[in-house]
Amino acid sequence: MALNPLVDSRDVRFVLFEILEADKLSKYEKFSGFDRDTYEATLELAEQLAVEQVYPANAEADKTGAKYDPKTKTVTVPEGYKAAMNLYRESGFSGLGNDPEWGGTGMPEVVCRAIMDYFSAAAVAFITYDTLKGGASRLIENFGSDELKKIYLEKMVSGQWGGTMCLTEPGAGSDVGALKTKAVKQADGTYLLTGQKIFITAGDNDMFENIIHPVLARIEGDPPGTPGISIFIVPKYHVKPDGSLGERNDIMTSGIEHKMGIKGSATCSLSLGDNGKCVGWLLGEERQGMKIMFQMMNEARLDVANQASGCCSAAYMHSITYAKNRIQGSDPAAKGGAPALIIKHPDVKRMLLWMKSQVEAMRMLTLLAAISGDLSHVEQGEKAKEAKAMLDFLIPLCKAGNTDLAWLVTSEAMQVYGGYGYCSEYPVEQFARDCKILAIYEGTNGIQSMDLTMRKLLMNPEMYNYSVFKKKIAETIEKAKGIVDEKYVAAVRDGVTKMDATVKKLAELRDQKKMLDILAIATPLQNAMRMLAHAWMHLWSMTVTIPKLKAIAGDIAGEKVVNLVKDNMEAAFYYGRVLSARFYLGSEFKHFQGYLDYITSGEQAVIEAFDEIFTGALPQ
Ligand SMILES: Cc1cc2nc3c(=O)[nH]c(=O)nc-3n(C[C@H](O)[C@H](O)[C@H](O)COP(=O)(O)OP(=O)(O)OC[C@H]3O[C@@H](n4cnc5c(N)ncnc54)[C@H](O)[C@@H]3O)c2cc1C
Repeated sequence: MALNPLVDSRDVRFVLFEILEADKLSKYEKFSGFDRDTYEATLELAEQLAVEQVYPANAEADKTGAKYDPKTKTVTVPEGYKAAMNLYRESGFSGLGNDPEWGGTGMPEVVCRAIMDYFSAAAVAFITYDTLKGGASRLIENFGSDELKKIYLEKMVSGQWGGTMCLTEPGAGSDVGALKTKAVKQADGTYLLTGQKIFITAGDNDMFENIIHPVLARIEGDPPGTPGISIFIVPKYHVKPDGSLGERNDIMTSGIEHKMGIKGSATCSLSLGDNGKCVGWLLGEERQGMKIMFQMMNEARLDVANQASGCCSAAYMHSITYAKNRIQGSDPAAKGGAPALIIKHPDVKRMLLWMKSQVEAMRMLTLLAAISGDLSHVEQGEKAKEAKAMLDFLIPLCKAGNTDLAWLVTSEAMQVYGGYGYCSEYPVEQFARDCKILAIYEGTNGIQSMDLTMRKLLMNPEMYNYSVFKKKIAETIEKAKGIVDEKYVAAVRDGVTKMDATVKKLAELRDQKKMLDILAIATPLQNAMRMLAHAWMHLWSMTVTIPKLKAIAGDIAGEKVVNLVKDNMEAAFYYGRVLSARFYLGSEFKHFQGYLDYITSGEQAVIEAFDEIFTGALPQ
């Protein structure tokens, strides 16, 4: 398969089929209707659509952006999105992960996420419309009454109707429990809602006939904070008994944000109940809103991780293409000072290998999280429990890890381009602008780091999630023996030992109730844990790539192998994968120790810093 400058379909297939062996999921009843051929055909179609239809709309959407008309209070999306969304719908991608009962394909999540890698590479802003709709539809699938399912699901799954998630309000961002939107029960069992929601992705647009909003609100009289929150389904248009659209519901768009990136994604302010007529239907039970919304939030966190790995992959693919064509300076490895492509310079190779190793690790970990989700549904007993623990542990790691890296990887892509990378004539600066939001929305990375440190690690009963994580790493270490050079195996083994010692010290702080000390190092801990997870992924990859390279080339290094690799794309792929794994484990992973030293330093400067040391710098 030929490389194109946008999506890395060879690497996506490697992770899906050679590392995670996703095709083996067909042994479970739920996925028995799929096989490798079905997945291959779907991947090919997705690649074609992403590259030929969605990506061409990306740069234009960045220029025009979504538009709000204050007179009609309506939002229009960039023109190119409409045609692309029609094809996306017609090709069946809208309902790929939904239950077949409602018209979905029911494909494993791991395959859906591999496909999202392509669409995120093509246009992060575009894919937000579908991911939010998908999450909202699955909330109704799992928690909706039969009536709600019957009214909404088929049209959401087909992509005729859109969806959102409405949590944020002016005074309730990270602290969702502070929300003020109010719900009052009516005699017919519905609720009337009043309030303001802000920053709502895809909150309004002209791509969908109707938009279905899951809205968090507090029923009058219910307690403050998260325990008092309920969740309601609020459609933009009411739906008549025959399924056709009725009157406009009293949920109106009051504006959209003007942003640094993802300009084609409409970020809307919504006003509920200005005329006292915003009707909502309770989803699940009263005061279960946060518990229910967590299903969508967890899904959305992986969506964001997916957006990061896809977009970074595109930035990396563009960088290779540029470095293969830009001539500057002379080749330091050749005699005679012949003009060199910049890909020949060791510092440029370093940047490319760094990007390659990060993108590969992000992709492997995100798809591992996805297949863990699949296995948690189809496995039984201990295996299902372990798969769920793995998923829970990986969600904040993928969300925060991928998205912190996304800003760095896309920035490095600009660096490879030199001055042209900073100019809008070339696409990489858009990738960087589009990626910045990923670290902020769907729970900032600070909040993700605290989730990892507290709920998923230190407060998790007997640190079960972490013990499953370590157990799986130990299995890879065992498998790597005799295949992978001991120095790379030892890097991961020592990494686990050192992380264990660090976690033990944090547990002591927890037992001493020194919570401020723990909260102050949550982000460095997340960084260190992400590095350990990525090191594990690279070691795992070597257990596959080394035998395959040996089978093709007879060895993994030496002149004969290098010569063969230059003419054999398969060998080149495995050789490149071995090199990026060696780079990660042998060079990049050295930073891991720095994070651990930071975490265990006992330095109290952050704890001792009080407001005035910062505010003193402000004009008095
Ligand atoms: C383009 C865009 C799209 C969005 N889409 C949606 C959407 O579809 N639906 C939706 O509901 N929301 C959406 N949001 C909102 C987004 O999820 C919030 O912006 C985000 O959760 C942060 O809230 P905030 O902006 O109020 O920041 P704040 O909560 O005020 O946070 C500011 C800073 O303080 C830190 N902080 C806050 N509280 C704590 C704490 N307890 N401990 C440590 N640090 C803390 C944060 O990490 C951050 O660094 C979107 C936002 C944007 C910009």
